[in-house]
Amino acid sequence: MILLDGKKIAKDIKGEIAIKVTQLKATGGKTPHLAAILVGDDGASETYVSAKVKACEKVGFKSTLIRLKDNVSEQELVKEIHKVNNTLDIDGLIVQLPLPNHIDEMRITEAILPSKDVDGFHPTNIGRMILNLPTYLPATPAGILELLKRYNVETSGKNCVVIGRSHIVGFPISILMGRNNNPGNCTVTLTHSRTQNLNEITKTADILIVALGKAEFVTSEMVKEGVCIVDVGITRIESDKTKSGWKLLGDVAFDSVKDRCSFITPVPGGVGPMTIAMLLKNTLMSAKRAVY
Ligand code: NAP
Repeated sequence: MILLDGKKIAKDIKGEIAIKVTQLKATGGKTPHLAAILVGDDGASETYVSAKVKACEKVGFKSTLIRLKDNVSEQELVKEIHKVNNTLDIDGLIVQLPLPNHIDEMRITEAILPSKDVDGFHPTNIGRMILNLPTYLPATPAGILELLKRYNVETSGKNCVVIGRSHIVGFPISILMGRNNNPGNCTVTLTHSRTQNLNEITKTADILIVALGKAEFVTSEMVKEGVCIVDVGITRIESDKTKSGWKLLGDVAFDSVKDRCSFITPVPGGVGPMTIAMLLKNTLMSAKRAVY
């Protein structure tokens, strides 16, 4: 079994981006600039946004964090997005999700200029992804592709089963694995909560991508020998064995399945670190006007 070490690969990618930023600046190019909007003071969102801002600093990007109160109206938030859209120096904009219930997430996503949508969630960018046109790929699915590529996992002609069909992970990765690309060219089965006989379907997977948000859901009886497993899930549970009082679990019962796998991502240290690395990659692409 080979561990798909997202922590190491993400570090490599950030190192490569930092070198490119230095070269860009040395040749008179602009410093990539990412703006993030954070609504409210949800602890998890704070953690994610501050990790993104810190990652920007590390690779030599500029970053701007815009904080808004959780009672901000949808209209005010859209106004703030338009301001960023019209700020020439800013290359990429992300609005940290989830948003408070009174705000329509899709309307907010649509307010972001596709050319600055480095999360890759705008319908224009999703459409471009489906058509295999240059675009910003959503960061988590892009991170999965990059991991498979850097570990030379063969995907062509393989059966790929995806569990979960969210707009940010399951649905886009199912499209990407089926595209005529490398990685890609899989025969893809997308499963969800209404899927019948899930255990039979997962047993057909050469590559199993799991993103449903249920800790240790996938067990050894559900997979075949030699499977490559990508575990996207992150569930925080209390633990008296850690200093912090909690630990992270994936959607896969790692110890139960690992000996049946050819490759597997750990949680933490698998897909998670890749997500931020790919967000930085998209922002660099935007600064270099590589897509639009
Ligand atoms: P989500 O929006 O919560 O959607 C979950 C999906 O799983 C839905 O499509 C749902 O089906 C499906 N599902 C639920 N129970 C199921 C079951 N018993 N059998 C089959 N499918 C089932 O998911 P998400 O936002 O993609 O997040 C999934 C997990 O990934 C979470 O733990 C999240 O924290 C983690 N995550 C990690 C990263 C990272 O960077 N590592 C990024 C994003 C998310 P229906 O559509 O039928 O409801």
